[in-house]
Amino acid sequence: MHKFLIITLSLLALCSCQKGPSVGPGDEEHLASAAESDCGFIQNAYGQRVSWKKNIPVTLQLHKDYPPQYEDILKKAAHHWDESAGMTLFRFVRTENLLPEVAKKDTQNTVHWQQEWSESQKNMQGLTNLYWKGTQIYESDVAINNKYFNFFLENPTTPYDVHLESLLIHELGHVLGLKHRSTVPSVMWSVLNGAIKRDTLTTADRETIKCEY
Ligand SMILES: [Zn+2]
Repeated sequence: MHKFLIITLSLLALCSCQKGPSVGPGDEEHLASAAESDCGFIQNAYGQRVSWKKNIPVTLQLHKDYPPQYEDILKKAAHHWDESAGMTLFRFVRTENLLPEVAKKDTQNTVHWQQEWSESQKNMQGLTNLYWKGTQIYESDVAINNKYFNFFLENPTTPYDVHLESLLIHELGHVLGLKHRSTVPSVMWSVLNGAIKRDTLTTADRETIKCEY
């Protein structure tokens, strides 16, 4: 059974989680608590954690629109997770492959710097699609909302600017299979306020990543 989930990061304190069309999602959350501790991970319909298992590192292809000057910050964001797991979890490649203009399911893992963004989702700073079969994640696509947000590396210009490293740490957490947290300090909180830096993994984040990697 193939499943997928779209996870977003939003400015608003609303639930920004969205479940995409999937087969029989009905009582997934309820069932999920039965089989295996979630440990901060998304779970399948049987309550098992989904992750990349042994298929690490995950190779993510950068869309041509992803700014070259922001490649280092993407690697820096990945390094937080690498360092915590004690292994290399991500590889990033520039590819000649023609990638779709917007993130979509196509068997390729991608990072999109997207100019195209639906107005109904304009509060979402970023969005990660995750696809799995059984407990095995087999594709993930990250999209950064470059239409409605401006980003900063060190100092924001306006109170609405998004700290890019913090956003990338969060989205890469989703790529690894992590879900939103709300009860413990975590980089996986669903809300990242403008002009705020949240670029340090917490104790909970470090414990979480060790559950699967
Ligand atoms: Zn999120």
